[in-house]
Amino acid sequence: MTNACSFCGNKNFTSKRVQYKYRHNSQFLVVNNVPCEECEYCGEQYFEAETLKKIEKNYTEIYSRGKTAKKQIKVPIEEFTEI
Ligand SMILES: [Zn+2]
Repeated sequence: MTNACSFCGNKNFTSKRVQYKYRHNSQFLVVNNVPCEECEYCGEQYFEAETLKKIEKNYTEIYSRGKTAKKQIKVPIEEFTEI
């Protein structure tokens, strides 16, 4: 899928399943167990275009079409100057 890491040039990757955090404007979608290839040297993660499209589509279904996600979490937000 990826020949060499575009950050460090390393050619060895490990197939992994990771938690992907998709962010659009100030809204988030977290997807668990997303397949990716991780650079063994610097840890940069590469995702298939198909995988990212699927996540984007799901994001739209949740935020624009009212789909209920499997789980919801509350995320605390602070202003740095106030902490
Ligand atoms: Zn790398």
